[in-house]
Amino acid sequence: MAKLIALDAGTTGVTAVLYDEALVPLRRAYREFPQHFPAPGMVEHEADDIRRAVQVSLQELLSGVDGPIAAVGITNQRETVFALDRHSGEAYGRGIVWQDRRTHKRCDDLKAEGLGERVQQLTGLLLDPYFSASKIEWMRSHLPGLAEKSEQGGLVFVTVDSLVIQALGPDNLWVTDPTNACRTLLYDIERREWSAELCELFGVPMDCLSEVRPSVGPLGTAHLPGDRRAPILGLAGDQQAALFGQACYSEGDFKTTYGTGCFLVLNTGTQRREPAGGLLTTLALDAHGQPCYAVEGSVFAGGAVIQWLRDGLGLIAQAPDSEALAREVPDTGGVILVPAFAGLGAPHWDPDARAALLGMTRGTHKSHIARAALQCIALQCVDIVTLLRDSTGLPVDTLRVDGGAVRNDLLMQMQADLAQARVVRPADVESTARGAGALAALGAGLWEADPTAAGLPPGATVFEPQMPREEVAEIRAAWGDALRRVKTRPGPTA
Ligand code: ADP
Repeated sequence: MAKLIALDAGTTGVTAVLYDEALVPLRRAYREFPQHFPAPGMVEHEADDIRRAVQVSLQELLSGVDGPIAAVGITNQRETVFALDRHSGEAYGRGIVWQDRRTHKRCDDLKAEGLGERVQQLTGLLLDPYFSASKIEWMRSHLPGLAEKSEQGGLVFVTVDSLVIQALGPDNLWVTDPTNACRTLLYDIERREWSAELCELFGVPMDCLSEVRPSVGPLGTAHLPGDRRAPILGLAGDQQAALFGQACYSEGDFKTTYGTGCFLVLNTGTQRREPAGGLLTTLALDAHGQPCYAVEGSVFAGGAVIQWLRDGLGLIAQAPDSEALAREVPDTGGVILVPAFAGLGAPHWDPDARAALLGMTRGTHKSHIARAALQCIALQCVDIVTLLRDSTGLPVDTLRVDGGAVRNDLLMQMQADLAQARVVRPADVESTARGAGALAALGAGLWEADPTAAGLPPGATVFEPQMPREEVAEIRAAWGDALRRVKTRPGPTA
């Protein structure tokens, strides 16, 4: 049976997974790499650290594994950007990570100039430091010699996907795909090409960008341990890979990843729909690996709330203990946690808001707080689902879920109840790697996506909504009230 490799180059480490051609995971290897925080609000990665993590994870994955590898698929943290020598691959300084806020002021200035609307029209995104363009602009103006070097064409500004593809082969091939390009703030999502207008705005020479190739098809050759070669045939940014890995190929299909934060993505098919409340339009992939539209929202504090119960409050020893503790009580006893540890995201956009624990009485026990912690993860996702339903007109009645925190059955039941939707959890919750593996398998002609398969993935667990609607309404009203109390500025409150 043919074997496939998926490489997931994430924010904190690289995961390599070996699959058989039916996409059953056979083994995996993981290598963490260092994070650099040179100043408050700044986060950087070394290109060589990521390249090394790719090599080491592949070596571990393939040690003792014989036989050919049919194809490699890649997925990656998006928006993070590196300046590299086009011919040697050598890095100029460190890469600037998506979390980095150093270009905040510049983005605010561009917004004040009234450019936000045009940028959104072209890219589907907001003028925000999160995306690559203002980071490239910063590199060009701060790293000595970089501006000249980029004018002379000796330089490439690349996202992590291009870096990984280059690391796998000997020929310094610089390629990317639409799902990564569309996160740079330099890509026109309707024309599906780099935007000359945006490159000019951010001072990025267009010939310093990677070649955009289809997400499924030839993307280079991987030189693997054991003197083996395999074609790289699939590529997508992490959220789009997870969407594909969850079989969300068609309009109305929806997934949420519950990691440190939560990432919600709704496939809107061939039609671009304007989302409300600061959600983003992005490119995702249909059953054939061709670009389609999607709307994306995120929750800052997802599993991070559970980490806070563990590390901040010391209420639990490890994250899974949150479930047993919360199950000691039937409800939160009126306690609401608003986890605005780092402000509030969509649909509130209040960076100055801070977290609060409300509604406690003398009878409040730590189990009520644990339950409120799980509930607030679900409530934040519900606010975004509501926004998606209202702004796209799509029903969003099935939530496919993945990520580390979905192992918590209570959280999943709360999610089904509060969203009044069916929650489907696959047996393999690593949808991101699975998506990259599936794209590679599609490219190799070993596998086909079945867009009509409305059925459940094998081994899936389903959580049906059980809570009476009046109770849902009461909890959501209390949540809305609590949000109003912590917000520092008026704005939509669910
Ligand atoms: P990331 O990719 O962001 O590192 P993961 O998908 O590995 O995240 O998920 C880890 C997050 O999930 C952590 O924030 C952790 O607190 C949370 N988590 C893990 N297991 C559970 C659980 N059983 N219940 C609740 N939260 C959990």
